[in-house]
Amino acid sequence: MKKAKSELTYVELLEKVKEQEIKINELISEKSSITNFEFFVNESPDLVCIADSSAYYKAVNPAFTKILGYSKEELLSRPFLDFVHPEDLEKTFAEVQFLTNNNPTVDFENRYITKKGDLVHLQWKANLNSSNNLIYAIARDITETKKTQEKLLASQKSLNEAQRIAKIGSWDFNLFTQELNWSDELYEIFEIENKSNNPNLYAEYLSRFTPEDAEQLNINVGNTISNNVPYEMEHQIILDDQKTKWVFCTGVPITDDKNKVIALKGVVQDITQKKQIDETIMAKEKAEAANKAKSDFLANMSHEIRTPLNGIVGFTDLLLKMNFDEDQLKYLNTVNESANTLMDIINNILDFSKIESGKLELDFEEINLHELSHQIINLFKYEANYKKIDLIINIDKDVPQFIIGDSIRLKQILLNLLSNAMKFTFSGYIKLNVNQVEEKDGFSKIKFSVKDTGIGIKIKNQKKIFQSFVQADSTTTRKYGGTGLGLAISNQLLGLKKSKLKLDSTYGEGSEFFFTIEFEKVHKKPEQFPFIPETNVKSKKNSSKKHPNLKILIAEDNKINMLLAKTLIKNLFAECTIIEATNGYEAVQKVQMTIPDIVLMDIQMPILNGYNASLEIRKLNEFNHIPIIALTAGVLSGEKERCIEHGMSDYIAKPITQSELEETVFKWLKES
Ligand code: ADP
Repeated sequence: MKKAKSELTYVELLEKVKEQEIKINELISEKSSITNFEFFVNESPDLVCIADSSAYYKAVNPAFTKILGYSKEELLSRPFLDFVHPEDLEKTFAEVQFLTNNNPTVDFENRYITKKGDLVHLQWKANLNSSNNLIYAIARDITETKKTQEKLLASQKSLNEAQRIAKIGSWDFNLFTQELNWSDELYEIFEIENKSNNPNLYAEYLSRFTPEDAEQLNINVGNTISNNVPYEMEHQIILDDQKTKWVFCTGVPITDDKNKVIALKGVVQDITQKKQIDETIMAKEKAEAANKAKSDFLANMSHEIRTPLNGIVGFTDLLLKMNFDEDQLKYLNTVNESANTLMDIINNILDFSKIESGKLELDFEEINLHELSHQIINLFKYEANYKKIDLIINIDKDVPQFIIGDSIRLKQILLNLLSNAMKFTFSGYIKLNVNQVEEKDGFSKIKFSVKDTGIGIKIKNQKKIFQSFVQADSTTTRKYGGTGLGLAISNQLLGLKKSKLKLDSTYGEGSEFFFTIEFEKVHKKPEQFPFIPETNVKSKKNSSKKHPNLKILIAEDNKINMLLAKTLIKNLFAECTIIEATNGYEAVQKVQMTIPDIVLMDIQMPILNGYNASLEIRKLNEFNHIPIIALTAGVLSGEKERCIEHGMSDYIAKPITQSELEETVFKWLKES
């Protein structure tokens, strides 16, 4: 039978079947690889997508939904730029355009906003298939990496900030790679431009060193590498504009597990400011030492000057009581007044230098405040009367009468204020006002004010007059005298009680100086006034009859003072016997030999001073009854107590006046 044209032979059929089988197998294999690829795309943690040129996704893998939170439908229904962070839109758009302008691939980062509103950082790689104009892109979620990077950057920033604040720069050097890293601050300190991979960095760094310091650094670094020990250096660096800085550097070795040095690390601190402060402190200490030396010198000098001055005041006092013609009396008076003024000035300088050198301490005792205020006012009555100025005192009734304070210093301040007021007032009044401003727990805060209707003080001078040696203007000394120390001293004294002088003044109308001090109150029955200020001790001249065969020992090394003391004693007891001793040792000897009725004992004497001489005398029991009266310079705080502690009976401050000597000597003659 003839085979039809289209019919195939069995063999041909078999071949065809085989061909079909191969094709089927190929298709099965292709399908399986496609299925595998789909599986890969679907399971990929990265975002895989296809988008068209109008910026719509055509296909997205499940990672899109997982990472961005939108469903596949949502993602395909809107242009993909809708999901991009607004700040990254422009950049993303530019990348897409670049790609569609026939550039095969792009590589960029942007941020997407998830459905929940979170930010996701994506790193894209995209290709354009120009045959179908579709974009095939893959993106990796790098949010965590970005966060870590940001944290790193932030901590780097805060480290840089800390270094900048502390002016500390850091560096490290790898011995094998020869890589040198500097922190930002190190560039700042050395004022070197911060260029990455600068091969001349070390050379530029060394150029800031003096040749000696550069050599020292090389020695130190060499030693650190070969001996595995750290180094420290403090030195100056010289910058481009010849400006200098001080730096403190440390370097430490970094070793491998075999203890071999493989790197160096170090810090450099800019210590210029610290150096400047140190220098200022040193200069201040030096200035303070010089100031103290000056104060000590002033104190010593003033003390030396007081001794001869005591002689002038004492003898002119005596001479003034004798008979002279009018001219002679006038001259004598001038000498006496000048000596007294000089004494005031020296006392002021002495006080001032004592306060400056911190040697002045307050002496606390019970004070009758009402009596003290009246006493002071009384001192000015005569002058006020003479100048026809009203002198007013007002003590508020709630001001406590008895308080604990330093009466000498309180008097000194008030005297200073009142004598200034008197000096600068020519009509009207001067008023001392004392009132209580606060009262608490047994303490009373008292305000003292001295108000006058004098010349007043210009505003521009109101601050400066409180400085030492300063007066309102240059004509003041010529017109009114003074040293410009009174207010400064008063203020410093008040400073010891945490107070200070205040001033209200109108130029041409008057001034009010005031201050407040807190005192401890003493609860005592108030005492009655009127108080009689200065009791003129009636002269008991030539009282020898009452005290026949009186023996008085005077211990004094200064000839003028000895003569003055002898003269004053002779005025009192013309017929007494005076025994002289020129030092403490001689005084002790002569007391034993002569057994005097009374001893006048200077304090500062050679061989044995007055304190120790008195102690020696008191050791000899049989002379315990002899009154010893100290003649002190009267300038040191606690002098009185020291005299009593050393067994003395009483104390007279120089310059000795006739009346004081009389009163004290009679008191003790009566008592012994
Ligand atoms: P001194 O009076 O020795 O010059 P002070 O320190 O006591 O020194 O006073 C400083 C200056 O303050 C005075 O020289 C004077 O110019 C001014 N001053 C002080 N008190 C008064 C006052 N009550 N009225 C006007 N000026 C005064």
